[in-house]
Amino acid sequence: MQGVGFRPTLHRLAAELQLAGWVLNTTTGVICEVEGPEDQCREFFRRMHGEAPPLSRITASFMEMLPPVGFNDFSIRRSEEEEGEVTLISPDTAICADCARELLDPADRRYRYPFINCTNCGPRYSIIEALPYDRPHTTMSAFAMCEDCRREYEDPGNRRYHAQPNACPVCGPQVWLSSREGGRLAERDEAIQQAVRMLSEGRILAVKGLGGFHLA
Ligand SMILES: [Zn+2]
Ligand SMILES: [Zn+2]
Repeated sequence: MQGVGFRPTLHRLAAELQLAGWVLNTTTGVICEVEGPEDQCREFFRRMHGEAPPLSRITASFMEMLPPVGFNDFSIRRSEEEEGEVTLISPDTAICADCARELLDPADRRYRYPFINCTNCGPRYSIIEALPYDRPHTTMSAFAMCEDCRREYEDPGNRRYHAQPNACPVCGPQVWLSSREGGRLAERDEAIQQAVRMLSEGRILAVKGLGGFHLA
């Protein structure tokens, strides 16, 4: 399944087992080559199944022994487009416990940021425009990551490593409140507070979510 942090997990496993090689997403699944002592390679394959990330599901897997190539390091390669069968796409997933904690932490840079997400949660299906699942193929391609988000995105040790919808208040999408006619009444936190006031006055709001509208 794409967008669930599978490649970063293989990256970490390869580092732990001191294996070189590469991994890539294709529209039919993940392909990974690792190079090193045979025992370590078999251990990699075994642990891959046991340590797959929470949102992932391995429906089929197989291993093949190849002649050594002499890789120097382990890399995540650019996704390949392939004809034919299409891989599973993750559904949008509710906020995870780590993001929920950051959301309510006044010291966190995503404090009260409605579009907080990470590799273990957030939008997937609703933002995908084409496969394979990579940021340029999502509606997030319109938002260039700021330096802080980019650093998280590129750090294999970070929870947001290759999290395609990664965003923050500086660089990501924002909420706003519109009148029935479409005029902009308020933005960001003020929009949410005003929406709360309107609801408590008994007014009806259409809350636009990832996949549609919710009438409140
Ligand atoms: Zn999360
Ligand atoms: Zn950012």
